[in-house]
Amino acid sequence: MKAISVLGSTGSIGTQTLDIARDFPDQYKVVALTAGRNLALLVEQIQEYRPEVVALADTALLPELQKRLKAAGVDEAATPQLVGGPDGLNVAASWESADLVVTGIVGCAGLLPTLAAIRAGKDLALANKETLIAAGPVVLPELKKSGSRLLPADSEHSAIFQCLQGTPWADNARLSTGVPTPGLRRIQLTASGGAFRDWDARDLEKATVADATSHPNWSMGRKITVDSASLMNKGLEVIEAHYLFGLDYDHIEIVIHPQSIIHSMIELADSSVLAQLGWPDMKLPILYCLSWPERQETPWRRLDLTEVGQLSFRKPDPAKYPCMELAYAAGRAGGTMPAVMNAANEEAVAQFLEEKIHFLDIPVVIEAACERHKTDLIDHPQLDDVLAVDQWARQAVREQVSRGTRRMPAVLAA
Ligand code: NDP
Repeated sequence: MKAISVLGSTGSIGTQTLDIARDFPDQYKVVALTAGRNLALLVEQIQEYRPEVVALADTALLPELQKRLKAAGVDEAATPQLVGGPDGLNVAASWESADLVVTGIVGCAGLLPTLAAIRAGKDLALANKETLIAAGPVVLPELKKSGSRLLPADSEHSAIFQCLQGTPWADNARLSTGVPTPGLRRIQLTASGGAFRDWDARDLEKATVADATSHPNWSMGRKITVDSASLMNKGLEVIEAHYLFGLDYDHIEIVIHPQSIIHSMIELADSSVLAQLGWPDMKLPILYCLSWPERQETPWRRLDLTEVGQLSFRKPDPAKYPCMELAYAAGRAGGTMPAVMNAANEEAVAQFLEEKIHFLDIPVVIEAACERHKTDLIDHPQLDDVLAVDQWARQAVREQVSRGTRRMPAVLAA
Protein backbone atom coordinates (compact mmCIF):
# COMPACT_ATOMS: atom_id res chain seq x y z
CA MET A 1 0.00 0.00 0.00
CA LYS A 2 1.50 3.32 -1.09
CA ALA A 3 0.40 6.49 0.71
CA ILE A 4 -0.07 9.43 -1.66
CA SER A 5 -0.60 13.16 -1.31
CA VAL A 6 -2.47 14.88 -4.13
CA LEU A 7 -1.65 18.56 -4.57
CA GLY A 8 -4.30 20.24 -6.71
CA SER A 9 -6.79 17.42 -6.06
CA THR A 10 -9.71 19.33 -7.63
CA GLY A 11 -7.98 19.79 -10.99
CA SER A 12 -7.63 17.59 -14.04
CA ILE A 13 -4.45 15.81 -12.82
CA GLY A 14 -5.77 15.64 -9.25
CA THR A 15 -9.12 14.07 -10.12
CA GLN A 16 -7.49 11.54 -12.47
CA THR A 17 -5.06 10.56 -9.70
CA LEU A 18 -7.97 10.08 -7.32
CA ASP A 19 -9.77 7.96 -9.96
CA ILE A 20 -6.73 5.67 -9.93
CA ALA A 21 -6.82 5.50 -6.12
CA ARG A 22 -10.51 4.56 -6.38
CA ASP A 23 -9.76 1.86 -8.98
CA PHE A 24 -6.93 0.34 -6.92
CA PRO A 25 -7.93 0.74 -3.27
CA ASP A 26 -5.58 -2.04 -2.15
CA GLN A 27 -2.58 -0.30 -3.71
CA TYR A 28 -3.00 3.40 -2.98
CA LYS A 29 -4.20 5.28 0.05
CA VAL A 30 -4.78 9.05 -0.10
CA VAL A 31 -3.37 10.81 2.97
CA ALA A 32 -3.30 14.48 1.91
CA LEU A 33 -5.27 16.73 -0.45
CA THR A 34 -4.85 20.36 -1.44
CA ALA A 35 -7.20 22.60 -3.43
CA GLY A 36 -7.75 26.17 -4.54
CA ARG A 37 -11.38 27.31 -4.62
CA ASN A 38 -13.50 24.29 -5.57
CA LEU A 39 -14.90 23.50 -2.13
CA ALA A 40 -17.89 21.48 -3.41
CA LEU A 41 -15.65 18.92 -5.08
CA LEU A 42 -13.16 18.97 -2.21
CA VAL A 43 -15.91 18.05 0.29
CA GLU A 44 -16.87 15.05 -1.87
CA GLN A 45 -13.21 14.00 -2.04
CA ILE A 46 -12.81 14.26 1.73
CA GLN A 47 -15.92 12.10 2.22
CA GLU A 48 -14.70 9.45 -0.21
CA TYR A 49 -10.96 9.30 0.55
CA ARG A 50 -10.82 10.27 4.25
CA PRO A 51 -7.38 11.98 4.04
CA GLU A 52 -5.39 12.84 7.18
CA VAL A 53 -4.78 16.46 6.15
CA VAL A 54 -6.36 18.92 3.72
CA ALA A 55 -4.90 22.27 2.70
CA LEU A 56 -6.58 25.21 1.00
CA ALA A 57 -4.54 27.81 -0.87
CA ASP A 58 -6.60 30.58 0.70
CA THR A 59 -6.83 30.52 4.53
CA ALA A 60 -9.95 32.70 4.39
CA LEU A 61 -11.91 29.77 2.87
CA LEU A 62 -11.24 27.41 5.82
CA PRO A 63 -14.36 28.38 7.87
CA GLU A 64 -16.53 27.84 4.78
CA LEU A 65 -14.94 24.41 4.25
CA GLN A 66 -15.60 23.49 7.89
CA LYS A 67 -19.22 24.61 7.52
CA ARG A 68 -19.71 22.54 4.37
CA LEU A 69 -18.16 19.44 5.93
CA LYS A 70 -20.53 19.73 8.86
CA ALA A 71 -23.50 20.24 6.55
CA ALA A 72 -22.43 17.13 4.60
CA GLY A 73 -22.54 15.11 7.83
CA VAL A 74 -18.78 14.61 8.20
CA ASP A 75 -18.34 14.24 11.96
CA GLU A 76 -15.36 15.54 13.88
CA ALA A 77 -13.64 12.15 14.02
CA ALA A 78 -13.74 11.90 10.22
CA THR A 79 -12.65 15.51 9.65
CA PRO A 80 -9.02 15.75 8.53
CA GLN A 81 -6.62 18.30 9.91
CA LEU A 82 -7.46 21.47 7.98
CA VAL A 83 -4.71 23.94 7.11
CA GLY A 84 -4.50 26.94 4.79
CA GLY A 85 -2.31 29.44 2.97
CA PRO A 86 1.24 28.88 1.71
CA ASP A 87 2.29 27.28 5.03
CA GLY A 88 -0.72 24.99 4.93
CA LEU A 89 0.11 23.84 1.41
CA ASN A 90 3.66 23.11 2.56
CA VAL A 91 2.36 21.11 5.53
CA ALA A 92 0.22 18.94 3.24
CA ALA A 93 3.06 18.60 0.70
CA SER A 94 5.48 17.33 3.34
CA TRP A 95 2.94 15.23 5.28
CA GLU A 96 4.84 12.57 7.16
CA SER A 97 2.88 9.45 6.25
CA ALA A 98 3.04 10.12 2.49
CA ASP A 99 5.35 8.01 0.31
CA LEU A 100 4.70 9.92 -2.91
CA VAL A 101 3.43 13.43 -3.70
CA VAL A 102 1.51 14.08 -6.93
CA THR A 103 2.01 17.72 -7.93
CA GLY A 104 -1.13 18.78 -9.79
CA ILE A 105 -1.22 22.46 -8.80
CA VAL A 106 -1.23 24.64 -11.89
CA GLY A 107 1.47 27.24 -12.47
CA CYS A 108 4.29 28.61 -10.38
CA ALA A 109 1.98 28.37 -7.34
CA GLY A 110 3.18 24.76 -7.24
CA LEU A 111 6.82 25.71 -6.70
CA LEU A 112 6.96 26.14 -2.91
CA PRO A 113 4.82 23.08 -2.07
CA THR A 114 6.95 21.02 -4.48
CA LEU A 115 10.12 22.24 -2.75
CA ALA A 116 8.56 21.43 0.65
CA ALA A 117 7.90 17.87 -0.53
CA ILE A 118 11.46 17.53 -1.83
CA ARG A 119 12.95 18.89 1.40
CA ALA A 120 10.88 16.33 3.32
CA GLY A 121 12.51 13.62 1.19
CA LYS A 122 9.32 12.61 -0.63
CA ASP A 123 9.29 11.06 -4.07
CA LEU A 124 7.27 13.13 -6.52
CA ALA A 125 5.02 12.45 -9.48
CA LEU A 126 5.73 15.72 -11.25
CA ALA A 127 2.83 17.08 -13.30
CA ASN A 128 3.41 20.74 -12.38
CA LYS A 129 6.00 21.43 -15.05
CA GLU A 130 6.16 25.16 -14.24
CA THR A 131 8.14 24.34 -11.07
CA LEU A 132 11.06 22.81 -12.91
CA ILE A 133 10.94 25.37 -15.70
CA ALA A 134 10.98 28.38 -13.39
CA ALA A 135 13.30 26.96 -10.79
CA GLY A 136 15.32 24.11 -12.33
CA PRO A 137 18.63 25.53 -10.99
CA VAL A 138 17.11 25.61 -7.48
CA VAL A 139 15.20 22.31 -7.61
CA LEU A 140 18.00 20.07 -8.92
CA PRO A 141 20.44 20.70 -6.04
CA GLU A 142 17.57 20.25 -3.54
CA LEU A 143 16.79 16.84 -5.08
CA LYS A 144 20.42 15.84 -4.77
CA LYS A 145 20.48 16.90 -1.13
CA SER A 146 17.29 15.12 -0.09
CA GLY A 147 17.51 12.04 -2.32
CA SER A 148 13.93 12.58 -3.53
CA ARG A 149 13.10 11.16 -6.93
CA LEU A 150 11.27 13.23 -9.49
CA LEU A 151 9.12 10.86 -11.55
CA PRO A 152 7.68 12.58 -14.62
CA ALA A 153 3.87 12.47 -14.86
CA ASP A 154 3.73 14.57 -18.02
CA SER A 155 2.91 12.03 -20.75
CA GLU A 156 5.87 13.00 -22.96
CA HIS A 157 8.44 12.83 -20.18
CA SER A 158 6.90 9.65 -18.86
CA ALA A 159 7.32 8.20 -22.36
CA ILE A 160 11.01 9.18 -22.40
CA PHE A 161 11.47 7.84 -18.87
CA GLN A 162 9.79 4.56 -19.83
CA CYS A 163 11.94 4.22 -22.97
CA LEU A 164 15.08 4.86 -20.94
CA GLN A 165 14.18 1.95 -18.64
CA GLY A 166 14.87 -0.24 -21.66
CA THR A 167 18.43 0.91 -22.23
CA PRO A 168 21.57 -0.63 -20.77
CA TRP A 169 22.43 2.81 -19.39
CA ALA A 170 19.23 3.15 -17.38
CA ASP A 171 20.26 4.73 -14.14
CA ASN A 172 17.36 6.17 -12.26
CA ALA A 173 19.69 7.90 -9.85
CA ARG A 174 20.67 10.09 -12.78
CA LEU A 175 17.13 11.36 -13.34
CA SER A 176 16.97 15.13 -12.81
CA THR A 177 20.59 15.57 -11.92
CA GLY A 178 21.26 17.59 -15.07
CA VAL A 179 23.79 14.94 -16.14
CA PRO A 180 22.92 13.53 -19.58
CA THR A 181 22.18 9.83 -19.87
CA PRO A 182 25.09 8.29 -21.81
CA GLY A 183 23.97 6.94 -25.14
CA LEU A 184 20.91 9.19 -25.29
CA ARG A 185 21.47 11.11 -28.50
CA ARG A 186 18.18 12.91 -29.10
CA ILE A 187 14.72 13.38 -27.65
CA GLN A 188 11.70 13.91 -29.88
CA LEU A 189 8.73 15.33 -28.03
CA THR A 190 5.48 14.72 -29.83
CA ALA A 191 2.83 17.44 -29.93
CA SER A 192 -0.80 17.09 -30.95
CA GLY A 193 -0.63 20.60 -32.39
CA GLY A 194 -3.38 21.80 -30.05
CA ALA A 195 -6.64 23.51 -30.88
CA PHE A 196 -5.26 25.41 -33.88
CA ARG A 197 -3.37 22.55 -35.48
CA ASP A 198 -5.45 22.62 -38.64
CA TRP A 199 -5.96 26.40 -38.76
CA ASP A 200 -4.15 28.56 -41.24
CA ALA A 201 -1.85 31.02 -39.41
CA ARG A 202 -3.82 33.95 -40.87
CA ASP A 203 -7.09 32.67 -39.35
CA LEU A 204 -5.62 32.91 -35.82
CA GLU A 205 -6.72 36.55 -35.93
CA LYS A 206 -10.25 35.18 -35.39
CA ALA A 207 -9.30 32.83 -32.51
CA THR A 208 -11.53 33.09 -29.42
CA VAL A 209 -11.15 31.79 -25.87
CA ALA A 210 -13.67 29.03 -26.66
CA ASP A 211 -11.58 27.99 -29.69
CA ALA A 212 -8.30 27.93 -27.72
CA THR A 213 -9.74 25.93 -24.82
CA SER A 214 -11.08 23.01 -26.85
CA HIS A 215 -8.32 20.47 -27.29
CA PRO A 216 -8.68 17.88 -30.08
CA ASN A 217 -7.18 14.92 -28.16
CA TRP A 218 -6.57 15.55 -24.46
CA SER A 219 -8.92 16.63 -21.68
CA MET A 220 -6.93 19.01 -19.44
CA GLY A 221 -7.18 22.19 -17.35
CA ARG A 222 -7.78 25.53 -19.13
CA LYS A 223 -4.27 26.97 -18.77
CA ILE A 224 -2.47 23.96 -20.25
CA THR A 225 -5.08 23.72 -23.02
CA VAL A 226 -4.30 27.30 -24.09
CA ASP A 227 -0.58 26.48 -23.79
CA SER A 228 -1.19 23.55 -26.15
CA ALA A 229 -2.91 25.81 -28.67
CA SER A 230 0.08 28.20 -28.68
CA LEU A 231 2.58 25.31 -28.48
CA MET A 232 4.01 27.02 -25.40
CA ASN A 233 3.17 23.77 -23.61
CA LYS A 234 5.63 21.96 -25.86
CA GLY A 235 8.19 24.72 -25.37
CA LEU A 236 7.81 24.35 -21.60
CA GLU A 237 8.23 20.60 -22.02
CA VAL A 238 11.49 21.14 -23.92
CA ILE A 239 12.88 22.98 -20.89
CA GLU A 240 11.42 20.33 -18.55
CA ALA A 241 13.12 17.60 -20.63
CA HIS A 242 16.41 19.50 -20.46
CA TYR A 243 16.33 19.50 -16.65
CA LEU A 244 15.02 15.94 -16.31
CA PHE A 245 17.27 14.19 -18.82
CA GLY A 246 20.27 16.52 -19.12
CA LEU A 247 20.32 16.92 -22.92
CA ASP A 248 21.15 20.30 -24.42
CA TYR A 249 18.52 22.18 -26.42
CA ASP A 250 19.97 21.24 -29.81
CA HIS A 251 19.11 17.62 -29.06
CA ILE A 252 15.52 18.09 -27.93
CA GLU A 253 13.12 18.40 -30.86
CA ILE A 254 9.40 18.88 -31.31
CA VAL A 255 7.40 16.92 -33.88
CA ILE A 256 3.69 17.37 -34.55
CA HIS A 257 1.88 14.05 -34.33
CA PRO A 258 -1.87 14.73 -34.64
CA GLN A 259 -3.03 11.31 -33.37
CA SER A 260 -1.23 11.64 -29.98
CA ILE A 261 -0.55 7.89 -29.91
CA ILE A 262 3.25 8.07 -29.72
CA HIS A 263 3.87 10.02 -26.54
CA SER A 264 7.53 10.77 -27.33
CA MET A 265 10.66 9.12 -28.68
CA ILE A 266 14.33 8.78 -27.85
CA GLU A 267 17.19 8.16 -30.24
CA LEU A 268 20.13 6.17 -28.90
CA ALA A 269 23.80 6.11 -29.85
CA ASP A 270 23.33 3.24 -32.31
CA SER A 271 20.63 5.30 -34.14
CA SER A 272 17.85 3.12 -32.75
CA VAL A 273 14.67 5.03 -31.89
CA LEU A 274 12.45 3.92 -29.00
CA ALA A 275 8.91 5.16 -28.54
CA GLN A 276 6.13 4.66 -26.01
CA LEU A 277 2.60 4.35 -27.34
CA GLY A 278 -0.88 4.47 -25.87
CA TRP A 279 -4.25 6.19 -26.13
CA PRO A 280 -4.10 9.84 -25.11
CA ASP A 281 -5.09 9.37 -21.47
CA MET A 282 -3.18 10.95 -18.59
CA LYS A 283 -4.15 8.11 -16.25
CA LEU A 284 -1.44 5.89 -17.72
CA PRO A 285 1.57 8.18 -17.05
CA ILE A 286 0.16 9.06 -13.62
CA LEU A 287 -0.26 5.37 -12.80
CA TYR A 288 3.30 4.65 -13.91
CA CYS A 289 4.57 7.20 -11.39
CA LEU A 290 2.48 5.58 -8.67
CA SER A 291 3.46 2.01 -9.46
CA TRP A 292 7.10 2.61 -10.54
CA PRO A 293 9.30 0.61 -10.73
CA GLU A 294 6.52 -1.99 -10.97
CA ARG A 295 3.85 -2.20 -13.67
CA GLN A 296 0.28 -2.27 -12.42
CA GLU A 297 -2.13 -4.63 -14.19
CA THR A 298 -5.12 -2.60 -15.47
CA PRO A 299 -8.39 -3.38 -17.25
CA TRP A 300 -8.07 -0.19 -19.33
CA ARG A 301 -8.81 0.01 -23.05
CA ARG A 302 -5.93 -1.58 -24.91
CA LEU A 303 -4.25 0.13 -27.84
CA ASP A 304 -5.24 -1.21 -31.23
CA LEU A 305 -3.14 0.30 -33.99
CA THR A 306 -5.42 -1.11 -36.68
CA GLU A 307 -8.16 1.03 -35.15
CA VAL A 308 -5.86 4.06 -35.30
CA GLY A 309 -4.93 3.27 -38.90
CA GLN A 310 -2.39 6.01 -39.50
CA LEU A 311 0.33 7.72 -37.52
CA SER A 312 1.56 10.92 -39.12
CA PHE A 313 4.26 13.45 -38.29
CA ARG A 314 5.28 16.91 -39.39
CA LYS A 315 7.57 19.71 -38.33
CA PRO A 316 5.94 22.58 -36.42
CA ASP A 317 5.88 25.91 -38.25
CA PRO A 318 7.91 28.38 -36.12
CA ALA A 319 6.08 31.35 -37.69
CA LYS A 320 2.69 29.96 -36.63
CA TYR A 321 3.94 29.04 -33.15
CA PRO A 322 6.19 31.89 -31.90
CA CYS A 323 5.77 30.70 -28.28
CA MET A 324 7.74 27.57 -29.11
CA GLU A 325 10.70 29.67 -30.27
CA LEU A 326 10.43 31.93 -27.21
CA ALA A 327 10.68 28.87 -24.96
CA TYR A 328 13.77 27.54 -26.75
CA ALA A 329 15.39 30.99 -26.51
CA ALA A 330 14.59 31.25 -22.78
CA GLY A 331 15.90 27.74 -22.15
CA ARG A 332 19.14 28.50 -23.97
CA ALA A 333 19.57 31.80 -22.09
CA GLY A 334 19.18 29.81 -18.85
CA GLY A 335 19.44 31.27 -15.33
CA THR A 336 16.35 33.32 -14.48
CA MET A 337 15.13 33.67 -18.09
CA PRO A 338 12.88 30.54 -18.09
CA ALA A 339 11.28 31.81 -14.85
CA VAL A 340 10.52 35.16 -16.51
CA MET A 341 9.19 33.49 -19.64
CA ASN A 342 7.05 31.10 -17.60
CA ALA A 343 5.57 33.83 -15.38
CA ALA A 344 4.94 36.11 -18.37
CA ASN A 345 3.15 33.23 -20.09
CA GLU A 346 1.02 32.46 -17.01
CA GLU A 347 -0.03 36.08 -16.75
CA ALA A 348 -0.60 36.42 -20.50
CA VAL A 349 -2.78 33.28 -20.56
CA ALA A 350 -4.76 34.55 -17.54
CA GLN A 351 -5.31 37.88 -19.35
CA PHE A 352 -6.35 36.01 -22.49
CA LEU A 353 -8.82 33.82 -20.56
CA GLU A 354 -10.33 37.01 -19.13
CA GLU A 355 -10.56 38.31 -22.70
CA LYS A 356 -8.32 41.30 -21.96
CA ILE A 357 -5.88 40.39 -24.72
CA HIS A 358 -6.10 38.47 -27.98
CA PHE A 359 -4.55 35.03 -28.47
CA LEU A 360 -1.96 36.61 -30.79
CA ASP A 361 -0.90 39.03 -28.06
CA ILE A 362 0.33 36.17 -25.85
CA PRO A 363 3.75 35.77 -27.56
CA VAL A 364 4.06 39.54 -27.97
CA VAL A 365 3.84 40.29 -24.25
CA ILE A 366 6.04 37.32 -23.33
CA GLU A 367 8.72 38.41 -25.76
CA ALA A 368 8.65 41.96 -24.39
CA ALA A 369 9.15 40.72 -20.80
CA CYS A 370 12.02 38.44 -21.84
CA GLU A 371 13.69 41.25 -23.81
CA ARG A 372 13.52 43.59 -20.80
CA HIS A 373 14.97 40.90 -18.51
CA LYS A 374 18.07 40.30 -20.65
CA THR A 375 20.16 42.92 -18.88
CA ASP A 376 19.09 41.66 -15.40
CA LEU A 377 19.50 37.94 -16.02
CA ILE A 378 20.96 36.00 -13.08
CA ASP A 379 22.96 32.99 -14.24
CA HIS A 380 22.87 30.98 -11.01
CA PRO A 381 19.70 32.05 -9.21
CA GLN A 382 18.67 31.29 -5.64
CA LEU A 383 15.04 30.68 -4.72
CA ASP A 384 14.49 34.34 -3.78
CA ASP A 385 15.78 35.43 -7.21
CA VAL A 386 13.31 33.11 -8.94
CA LEU A 387 10.41 34.37 -6.82
CA ALA A 388 11.43 37.99 -7.43
CA VAL A 389 11.68 37.70 -11.23
CA ASP A 390 8.43 35.74 -11.29
CA GLN A 391 6.63 38.67 -9.62
CA TRP A 392 8.44 41.20 -11.81
CA ALA A 393 7.44 39.43 -15.05
CA ARG A 394 3.76 39.19 -14.05
CA GLN A 395 3.74 42.90 -13.24
CA ALA A 396 5.55 43.74 -16.51
CA VAL A 397 2.86 41.88 -18.48
CA ARG A 398 0.01 43.52 -16.53
CA GLU A 399 1.52 46.96 -17.20
CA GLN A 400 1.92 46.22 -20.89
CA VAL A 401 -1.66 44.97 -21.13
CA SER A 402 -3.00 48.03 -19.33
CA ARG A 403 -1.16 50.23 -21.85
CA GLY A 404 -3.12 48.35 -24.48
CA THR A 405 -0.16 47.76 -26.82
CA ARG A 406 -0.83 45.28 -29.54
CA ARG A 407 1.54 44.24 -32.28
CA MET A 408 0.85 41.68 -34.96
CA PRO A 409 3.41 38.86 -35.32
CA ALA A 410 5.32 39.36 -38.56
CA VAL A 411 3.81 36.28 -40.23
CA LEU A 412 0.29 37.71 -39.94
CA ALA A 413 1.20 41.28 -40.68
CA ALA A 414 2.75 40.20 -44.00
P1 NDP B 1 -6.30 22.44 -13.41
O1 NDP B 1 -6.53 23.86 -13.68
O2 NDP B 1 -7.29 21.44 -13.91
O3 NDP B 1 -6.13 22.20 -11.82
C1 NDP B 1 -5.29 23.00 -11.05
C2 NDP B 1 -5.33 22.61 -9.59
O4 NDP B 1 -4.53 23.55 -8.87
C3 NDP B 1 -6.74 22.69 -8.98
O5 NDP B 1 -6.84 21.76 -7.94
C4 NDP B 1 -6.77 24.12 -8.41
O6 NDP B 1 -7.70 24.26 -7.36
C5 NDP B 1 -5.35 24.23 -7.88
N1 NDP B 1 -4.88 25.60 -7.81
C6 NDP B 1 -5.10 26.61 -8.68
N2 NDP B 1 -4.48 27.73 -8.29
C7 NDP B 1 -3.86 27.44 -7.12
C8 NDP B 1 -3.04 28.19 -6.21
N3 NDP B 1 -2.76 29.47 -6.43
N4 NDP B 1 -2.58 27.56 -5.12
C9 NDP B 1 -2.86 26.27 -4.88
N5 NDP B 1 -3.62 25.51 -5.70
C10 NDP B 1 -4.11 26.09 -6.81
O7 NDP B 1 -4.85 22.10 -13.97
P2 NDP B 1 -4.31 20.72 -14.58
O8 NDP B 1 -4.66 19.59 -13.70
O9 NDP B 1 -4.64 20.66 -16.02
O10 NDP B 1 -2.74 20.98 -14.53
C11 NDP B 1 -2.01 20.90 -13.32
C12 NDP B 1 -0.53 20.88 -13.65
O11 NDP B 1 -0.23 19.67 -14.34
C13 NDP B 1 -0.09 22.01 -14.58
O12 NDP B 1 1.17 22.43 -14.20
C14 NDP B 1 -0.06 21.37 -15.97
O13 NDP B 1 0.89 21.99 -16.81
C15 NDP B 1 0.37 19.96 -15.60
N6 NDP B 1 -0.07 18.95 -16.55
C16 NDP B 1 -1.40 18.73 -16.76
C17 NDP B 1 -1.83 17.79 -17.65
C18 NDP B 1 -3.29 17.48 -17.82
O14 NDP B 1 -3.62 16.53 -18.54
N7 NDP B 1 -4.18 18.20 -17.21
C19 NDP B 1 -0.87 17.01 -18.46
C20 NDP B 1 0.51 17.27 -18.11
C21 NDP B 1 0.89 18.21 -17.21
P3 NDP B 1 -9.26 24.68 -7.58
O15 NDP B 1 -9.70 24.05 -8.85
O16 NDP B 1 -9.92 24.09 -6.35
O17 NDP B 1 -9.32 26.17 -7.60
